[in-house]
Amino acid sequence: MIRHLVRPRTVTEATTALAEANAVGGHALIIGGGTIAVPQLVRQELQPTHIVDLGDLDVARIWRDESAVHLGPAATYQLLIDTPCTERWTPLLHLMAKGITGGIQIRSQGTIAGSLVCARPYSDAPAVLVAHAARVTVASAHGTRTVSVERFLTAPERPDLRPTELVTEIILPYRPEAVAHGYYKLKFAESSWPVVTCSCSILADGTAELTLGGVRVVPWKIRVSSDLSHSPQELRDVLDDHMSALTEDDFWHDIRADSSYRRRVAATVAARALRQAAARLPSPGTEHS
Ligand SMILES: Cc1cc2nc3c(=O)[nH]c(=O)nc-3n(C[C@H](O)[C@H](O)[C@H](O)COP(=O)(O)OP(=O)(O)OC[C@H]3O[C@@H](n4cnc5c(N)ncnc54)[C@H](O)[C@@H]3O)c2cc1C
Repeated sequence: MIRHLVRPRTVTEATTALAEANAVGGHALIIGGGTIAVPQLVRQELQPTHIVDLGDLDVARIWRDESAVHLGPAATYQLLIDTPCTERWTPLLHLMAKGITGGIQIRSQGTIAGSLVCARPYSDAPAVLVAHAARVTVASAHGTRTVSVERFLTAPERPDLRPTELVTEIILPYRPEAVAHGYYKLKFAESSWPVVTCSCSILADGTAELTLGGVRVVPWKIRVSSDLSHSPQELRDVLDDHMSALTEDDFWHDIRADSSYRRRVAATVAARALRQAAARLPSPGTEHS
């Protein structure tokens, strides 16, 4: 039974509420945009004693400084689309946000922080954050800590987050070495969850970073030659080679697709993201800043 509903205005109020719930042996549920948490509450899959609703939190949503773009806990997909600097500085996140299904309501309500905390291997945002080499800051009544998103996503649906902590910031460092980007996701219907996703960044040294979601149990980043955009079969061979070093437990499967299907389509999804990025390469002689 829900005994307390708190709508903190500051991070300190939020962490205090989480600490208080923990101190009495309660279970606090944080609500960001509520697009996942509220339906779970309605279906009674979650039975928190306390709710900490971040809807009134008075913190910046997107800002940038000399080294990074920063997302606050209330940064939504729509805000990413509408904020002019994101297309240039966080291009993969921008591409990804435009492809989120559910229409304007979900894009305007769902937050990047909420998707990160859900840590679903097939979701768009977690793997894209890994592709951006993002870091995440979490706060509790005892202070803050910042870890790489790659470390934060320890296992499917199990982020490195204690019951007394909330995500306060996601930091996306500028990557001037990344000169062209592509994002492709395979899904079975217009409004369905992604099955396999791939972010691709081509770097100035001619290599390409591919970050696949929905293949392994955590986002999977590998480096290949960008020349493989001309040779899908060679790209498939490279991915097969990497996958042969893994065990069955390393691969994700769910109701939408088993792990062998995901492994089979990974190369095709990666090839499409790589081709998209290659097509966006600046012509020789163009300056990057
Ligand atoms: C119709 C529909 C379509 C969708 N389409 C897509 C899609 O195309 N691709 C895709 O990847 N996803 C999709 N989603 C899922 C979407 O990513 C998530 O709904 C959204 O990003 C979650 O954010 P939220 O703020 O609503 O999270 P909430 O529902 O508020 O919370 C989700 C979880 O995160 C926790 N949480 C939230 N914020 C914080 C915080 N700051 N600190 C700590 N914990 C926090 C909550 O406690 C809860 O456990 C869709 C969802 C719906 C309903």
